[in-house]
Amino acid sequence: MVVCEKCLKESTTELISTDHFRGEEIKQYCEDCFFEGLQTAFNDPDLVCNCGVKMVLEVNDKEEIVDIVRENEVIFYACEEIVKARLDMDNNIIEELEQNHDLVGFYITQPEADYE
Ligand SMILES: [Zn+2]
Ligand SMILES: [Zn+2]
Repeated sequence: MVVCEKCLKESTTELISTDHFRGEEIKQYCEDCFFEGLQTAFNDPDLVCNCGVKMVLEVNDKEEIVDIVRENEVIFYACEEIVKARLDMDNNIIEELEQNHDLVGFYITQPEADYE
């Protein structure tokens, strides 16, 4: 039996392990709490674009995020300006924004090599 770090609910299924994208001690979360934590990259104060606007999940959809996690892929954050423009499907602006604003990707747990 494993217990979620945040809601302390016991689970019989596998929880999501993360080092909060910054090499911290590994914590385990249920899908709901993991997704909630992702909204702020687990309270990462540096998750801000060079323009000063906060960065948000590029794909803000729990199902898709869980898929990404299961595949051990990277979770992307983009400047909120980019995400907004994409929602508006404003292609001209999107391209320009993508050149001037930040987009970062994190592994759920950082590859060990990064810390050697
Ligand atoms: Zn939980
Ligand atoms: Zn920006």
